[in-house]
Parts: sequence; structure tokens; C-alpha cells
Amino acid sequence: MSDFWELLRKREQQFFGFEKSGFRHGARFIAVSSIAEQYYCEYKLENEFALGEIPSEAKSAGTVLHDELMPTERISREQFADLIARKEPSMAVLDVWGESGGLSVVGTPDHIVWSEGRPIWLVELKTTKGDPAPLWEDQENQVRIYGLLLERMGFDCSQMQLAVVRLKSGELDDQHKKEWVVQISGALLEGKTKWLELRYPGRMKVHILKHEPEKAEKAIASKAGYWLGEREPKSSTSVGKCRACEYSSICPKSLSAPPRPSGEMTG
Ligand code: SF4
Repeated sequence: MSDFWELLRKREQQFFGFEKSGFRHGARFIAVSSIAEQYYCEYKLENEFALGEIPSEAKSAGTVLHDELMPTERISREQFADLIARKEPSMAVLDVWGESGGLSVVGTPDHIVWSEGRPIWLVELKTTKGDPAPLWEDQENQVRIYGLLLERMGFDCSQMQLAVVRLKSGELDDQHKKEWVVQISGALLEGKTKWLELRYPGRMKVHILKHEPEKAEKAIASKAGYWLGEREPKSSTSVGKCRACEYSSICPKSLSAPPRPSGEMTG
């Protein structure tokens, strides 16, 4: 393998092997998805650590759809290096890791398109039951942080762009699911995402962002205090978020009143 991959392997071993005191809740590494969740509600993380994850229909359906749209097959490091070195675009994902804002951050992006060893598109898929048009802060920061980590690992990200694809769940038939990852990659490479959105009116939105690592650094820095034990978690100020949250009926900070027992009257 080339010097780049040898060096990356050594740095990776150091990063994961380095003994350090844990972050909040004893965590050794902080998942990119957890930082993104802080942008929704930090108290949700507290609930997850205290009460465990609560399965929800939407989460399970989202996971199944992810696997259907972006099926992966494990390959060796050597095969990965060969695949992404090609000039013609190739599709492959890897775990990303790095230090930022005093945190050791790890994660796995949904999808990356490569050419000549460089990432050119970093893509995150988000399913929704609602309107796919808005891009939420947590989703934007998640893809930005993946981009930052990829750059910190030493990949040349000078040509890379970011995309968050928001898709209404339950909208694709089996044939479209099979073709999806190739279709979205092709549309991004050819600059035809608008055409793709027209094919799925109101059901798909492709949000394209410039790779700006400093924005990702800021996004991590503004949430690091929670993990470093410098402050207590902040809870959501949005009734709508609490209403949609799986912890709403048991969360002490919930702004959404639990349903009244039947027969209870207000005066
Ligand atoms: S119920 Fe509200 S405050 Fe509690 S975790 Fe959920 S979103 Fe946060």
C-alpha cells in the first residue's frame, strides 16, 4: 500500500488506542450523529443515556430504507484504496475520525463518490414523513462534520461538495430503490439534481452545500462544553420538537403535556 495509506493506518491506531479520560457519560468517542442530535435537543441525549434508546416506527422504517437504498458490502483496505483511486467516479464509504474542539469524534457518512483518490461528493440521506424542502441545522451540521473529519484524515477535499438528500419515506417502489444510489450519484456528478427533484415533486429535495471546514469546527465547538462537563444539557424550547420526540411522555423537560387520562375535565 502507498505511504498515504500506511500513515493513515498508523494515525488511526493511535487515535483509537490513545488512553484518555472519558467525556460525559464516560464516552471515549463522540459520534457525529450525537453532536447532530444536540442541535435538535441536548436533553434527548441525556434521556438516551439514562433511559436507553426508545425504538420508534419512524426510526426503524428509516433504517430499513437506508439499507435498501444504499446497500454496502465490506471490502479490504487494499480494495478500497484501488477502488477510489480510479479516475471514473466510484462509490465507497469509510469510517471517519478525528479531533476537534477537544473532542474525539467518529462517524460513518451515508455515501461518498470518489475520483482519483479524492472525495468529490459526500452525501447524507434523511428520510421524513413531512415536507423534504427545509434543511434542518442538525442535518446540515452532520454532513459538514463528516467533511471536516475526512479532510483531517488527510484526503484532498478541495473538489468536494456536500449534499443532504431529504426523501419522503414510502415514496419509492422496489425498482426505484434499486436504482437510487446510482441515480443520485449520477445526478450530482452531472449537476442534474433539479431534474431528479422534478421526477419526485414534493417528495425529494437535494440540498447542496459548499465544504467549509471552519463551519464544522464551529458547530462542534459550540456543543463541546456538554461533553467536556463544562455545562449542563440544554433542553428544547420548541413544543413541536417535544411533541415529535419519543421521550415526550417521560422527559422531565418536555414542553408537550402528556395526554390527560380519559374523563379528566378542565375547570
Ligand atoms: S421531550 Fe422535549 S425536552 Fe425532552 S428530550 Fe424530547 S425534545 Fe428534548
